Amino acid sequence: MTKNIWHQRNKKLSTIALSLVLWHSAGAVTLEEATALQRTLITLDTHLDTPANLLVPGFNILERHSYGHDFTQVDVPRMKDGALDGGFWAIYTPQGELSKTGYEQSRDTALLRALAIRTMVSANPDIFEFATQASDAQEIKKQAKHIVYMSMENSYPLGTDISLLETFYKFGLRMAGPVHFKNNQFGDSSTDPSGSQWDGLSPLGEELVAEANRLGIVLDGSHAHDETVKDMIRLSKTPIILSHTGCKAIYDHPRNIDDALLKQLAASGGVIQMNAYSEYLEALPVDPARQAAVKGLMALYKQGSDHDVLLEKRREIEHEHPAVKASFDVYMQHFLHALKIVGPKHVGIGADWDGGGGVNEMMDVVNLPMITQRLLKEGYSKDDLVDIWGANALRVLQQAQDYAASVKK
Ligand SMILES: [Zn+2]
Repeated sequence: MTKNIWHQRNKKLSTIALSLVLWHSAGAVTLEEATALQRTLITLDTHLDTPANLLVPGFNILERHSYGHDFTQVDVPRMKDGALDGGFWAIYTPQGELSKTGYEQSRDTALLRALAIRTMVSANPDIFEFATQASDAQEIKKQAKHIVYMSMENSYPLGTDISLLETFYKFGLRMAGPVHFKNNQFGDSSTDPSGSQWDGLSPLGEELVAEANRLGIVLDGSHAHDETVKDMIRLSKTPIILSHTGCKAIYDHPRNIDDALLKQLAASGGVIQMNAYSEYLEALPVDPARQAAVKGLMALYKQGSDHDVLLEKRREIEHEHPAVKASFDVYMQHFLHALKIVGPKHVGIGADWDGGGGVNEMMDVVNLPMITQRLLKEGYSKDDLVDIWGANALRVLQQAQDYAASVKK
């Protein structure tokens, strides 16, 4: 496969879409036109938390759901509407105790989540296809199926046994981030209330980087402390990704990175994928009544209340104390800032769907073409969109895989 393989698109469709765009030289591209163009690209979101929904009662990935009804954001009909081919479907486990029991429980949860992702694909072979090679995306797109790469958010389930990463690799894992909300055995998180513990990666975290490199797994620095990200860039043999992150220059939040780190990431060949998690995009007003209501809901959840009861309760809360979300425009401020600082070869999309992502006007994947529309309006070309929507993420995966192949005897 040549590296240009990702740029070879369905030429006919592409020409039609491009002419549509060129007709509007003033940049006033309609959403329909932007959607038509987007359909010709490989479109990947690098952080889909949708696997968390796969085992939820009443959720069927093949059917159309709505955010207003069950708070989900991704399903096949909506992916089709929003011209999203797929992406990296995450195995997420929350950070728990650093103990043998904690590790074992999260390992089992992670294995079940990996199985749920594989089952989603194997049960629907005409709809989805599992991808393990960077070049698979192109082939799957050609067959008009949805692309499923597997990633891991929080490597906590690996415990202290680095060899478990290979087990997940064999399950199809191709991207992994060391930490989530709190510090763990692999290093420091950007949001641990107790602050930094390891000054970046722990010794075990350094081993994790080496093992990911050996296997051909892309390292993901989202949620990692800035020092951890710097360690990852320094130690990794191949460029890292930030699968869902924003810009500190727009909103100074620990989950975002500053321009210096952004430039360092790009200089090493890495990519930032723009996060649409409202609370990280701008300072939002706090509603104490909502906070109290959400706390009550969490208590019900912990008591193991029935799913329908929880859902009804949540609808009630959203009706009485609606969540305040950031605007699409603020999302694009982060996006355009990253593009201004490091250019379109180092920016992509990871909106944290089904994991807390979503901004006003774009609360699910249906309105994703608004991004394409806006980027065209800002003067970005179709080639830039090819990179932003998928080729950048696939490039770092290809580099990880090339490196792994080169060290295999
Ligand atoms: Zn996350």
